[in-house]
Amino acid sequence: MLFATLLACHFALAAIVVYGMNQLALVPWRRARDAHWTARARLLWPIRKTNGLLFFILPAALAAAQYSQFPEIPLAYLPAALAGLAGVILGMWPTAKAVFPDLALGRWVRNLAAVFVIRLMTVGVLIAAIFLMPGHLGWTALGLTALVIAINLGLVWGGALWILRLMGVFISAPPRLQEIVREIAARMNLPMPRVGLLRLYGANAIAFPLLNTLAVTEMAMDVLPDDELGAVCAHEFGHLSEPRGTVAMLVLSTFTLLPVIYFKPAMDAFGWAGYFGICALLIVVSRLVRTFRRRMEQRADSAAKTHEGPSPGVYARALERLYELNQVPAVTPATLSHPSLYDRLIAAGVTPEYPRPAAPARFTWQNVVALGLVVAFITPVMNRWDRDGRRNSHPPRMGSVESQPTRAD
Ligand SMILES: [Zn+2]
Repeated sequence: MLFATLLACHFALAAIVVYGMNQLALVPWRRARDAHWTARARLLWPIRKTNGLLFFILPAALAAAQYSQFPEIPLAYLPAALAGLAGVILGMWPTAKAVFPDLALGRWVRNLAAVFVIRLMTVGVLIAAIFLMPGHLGWTALGLTALVIAINLGLVWGGALWILRLMGVFISAPPRLQEIVREIAARMNLPMPRVGLLRLYGANAIAFPLLNTLAVTEMAMDVLPDDELGAVCAHEFGHLSEPRGTVAMLVLSTFTLLPVIYFKPAMDAFGWAGYFGICALLIVVSRLVRTFRRRMEQRADSAAKTHEGPSPGVYARALERLYELNQVPAVTPATLSHPSLYDRLIAAGVTPEYPRPAAPARFTWQNVVALGLVVAFITPVMNRWDRDGRRNSHPPRMGSVESQPTRAD
């Protein structure tokens, strides 16, 4: 009974927090109804970024509270996380509908389900490994590390696409797309890759260099005329024809977050210094990865420009159309793997008619809330590890019940 009430609280709290934050954040965007699309996209950016974080942080923080405060209910943090996630999704729907009025609930839920499953297999596996990792390095730690690496490699080597296919999100390409890709392959003198259609929300294209596969979303197919779709595919061909060394680096870059699984042993061995050491390592590695990916994008963009076809500016038009439809600002923070649209347009030979917009606000109140939630996730978990660790390292006196060590679940 207590547990059911707790779950209901997790669900309601998550829904209220997300809904409230979203509605507040949407106020300036609603006021700018008649502004240029780049100005509106710029206002929307912070909340979209925060929602991406909330999707994981909020359920994780609720699960952490459950883990720390109610250790007597084993594994209770899992249903707590699920209840939180359901609340987050409910809280986000009104915003999604306000921003993309054509959005159908079915498509949105399928999109979320696909994103969730892939994230569960990546971020979720890492979070689970943080909890399951023993305090001391040994065979268990080694086995767990091997398992996390194996799952990630499996995803990269076709597992992710297999899951998307199973969920009906990745389907075979319609004849129009096959035809366009065949034409670009001939134009660029490259072999014909496997081609698929992604039934995800947003207009996008993606390349899987390891699998020689190119995929385009339904919405990109709907909004782009043939020549622009071809230019976007030429960008993806740029990724498919990366040298082996670059592809190897790309695989390696999917392990950027791996060190987080050693939080517990690092805390045990070095205290908070171990924790901050891992954080510093993550920052350095993710900066290197970002530089590497940016260079990849720039190369693919120049391939698209070179092979965009007879009429100049086709690739630039396609890019701008995609960004506007997806409501991604023309100038994005330097932390992203893609350069800003404004710079990509200039590199593609087209200077936009509007002046270069400012980047979205770097620091907003949403960041403060998200940071608070990260602390709300880490602190209770660390507290319980600390408690459990202290109990384990000071054996209880004979016959004393209250100081029996409580096993971590
Ligand atoms: Zn790209």
